[in-house]
Amino acid sequence: MEIIENLSDLDLINKYRPLALIPTMGNLHEGHLGLIKYALKLNLSPMVTIFVNPLQFGPAEDFSKYPRTIEEDLRLLKKEKCKLVFIPDGKKILENIKELKAPFSNFLCSKSRPGHFDGVLTIVNRFLELIKPEYCIFGQKDFQQQLIIKEHLKNSELSTKLITNPIIRDKNGLALSSRNNYLSKRDKLKAAKIYFYLKEISAELIKVILNKNDFKKELDFLKSSYREIFLKENFKVDYLEFVNAKTLEDLKKKDSEILIAVAINYAGVRLIDNIFLTRPIS
Ligand code: AMP
Repeated sequence: MEIIENLSDLDLINKYRPLALIPTMGNLHEGHLGLIKYALKLNLSPMVTIFVNPLQFGPAEDFSKYPRTIEEDLRLLKKEKCKLVFIPDGKKILENIKELKAPFSNFLCSKSRPGHFDGVLTIVNRFLELIKPEYCIFGQKDFQQQLIIKEHLKNSELSTKLITNPIIRDKNGLALSSRNNYLSKRDKLKAAKIYFYLKEISAELIKVILNKNDFKKELDFLKSSYREIFLKENFKVDYLEFVNAKTLEDLKKKDSEILIAVAINYAGVRLIDNIFLTRPIS
């Protein structure tokens, strides 16, 4: 495995093409490793970037305490047979960076994390321009993020294609995330209930879509019922939304791609999760 730290060494990636760029903030877990496995399955050389990007953290967020576990990350990457790792120096990578505005900035996570996706897109674009990977791989756990990257690629000169990978979960259903490390064992178990409820919600949502009652009224009722349920569990709901998965606009009855997305603050940790559905044929 090649570990690259200097921008001037990036030339050596060329012998590994076609590349699948996998941007991460490190503290790797099976969710990240799933992206590497997928790249290898597609006969692409995974190139993982590890960079805790200050541009995507708000002033009251956890940039300084974000888990940094580089030695363990490298061990996992070697074990996974990752080909390339890029660990850029913060100063060098951010120098004269082209600051970008992310699309889809009025929806979901953008509302309570203003500027977050601008920071994500700015650094991802920098990596894309430097590395010019044939593909990049993002997880569907950060559904809005992959949509933003997809839209950016569509509207830019870059020839990189986007690949997405489904959410990797713990045995109990909790979506894997580096931020789960902030939770105690007991709290992780409790947080797994988020997915349990998401599955219930998706079953209810299908019924609402297929019945002939007032769609908007029933959606509102479903949303407020589960907001209450989450609250009773001590889950502070930032949002629970039913949206068109292509546009993130409020769901309409005939929409064919559906996203149920939730962001919850629990035990001082912000947790996001989602379920993607396609409309049943009626
Ligand atoms: P992060 O290190 O949190 O910025 O995540 C890096 C990449 O890994 C992003 O594309 C995430 O969507 C993806 N990822 C993180 N956790 C998961 C998961 N549980 N399942 C699938 N992809 C994930």
